[in-house]
Amino acid sequence: MFSQTLHTALNDQIKYEFDSAHLYLSMSAYFEGLNLPGFARWMRVQYQEEVSHALKFFDFINQRGGHVVMKAIDQPPTTFESTLDVFQQALANEQKVTALINQIYALAVQENDYPTQVMLHWFIMEQVEEEQSVSQIVELLKLSGGQGTALIMLDRQLAARKEDEH
Ligand code: MG
Repeated sequence: MFSQTLHTALNDQIKYEFDSAHLYLSMSAYFEGLNLPGFARWMRVQYQEEVSHALKFFDFINQRGGHVVMKAIDQPPTTFESTLDVFQQALANEQKVTALINQIYALAVQENDYPTQVMLHWFIMEQVEEEQSVSQIVELLKLSGGQGTALIMLDRQLAARKEDEH
């Protein structure tokens, strides 16, 4: 069993992963509305990934004999200024999640909770990948101007994202 502080932090992380999932599904809906199926698919896969992250914390708390507390999910934005705006907000969200994961890790170190540290190693590396993949799309959108043929080509590229990528 872990301390009450760590217990709360892990439960809060379930909520933050579901907040991310909700945000990305809202972004997917925005792209559906713009008739950009590749961007919509990319965000839908991202949504599924966040649900799987939430479930990893859910399973870990149960494995350790903790008590899972499901908390309310935040309302995400429902409209965005542009494709670039969406990915900039996604990047800011991932940077926030990285900081949250790092905080839990610091807590687990402070409390000598080794299983939590080991479990979080996967998440720490996952956040490196998440930030990198979203940053790459932000940069591509900036380079291409995010319009016309360049946008359509990027949409086709993002359509190829596999469900089990991570
Ligand atoms: Mg996540």
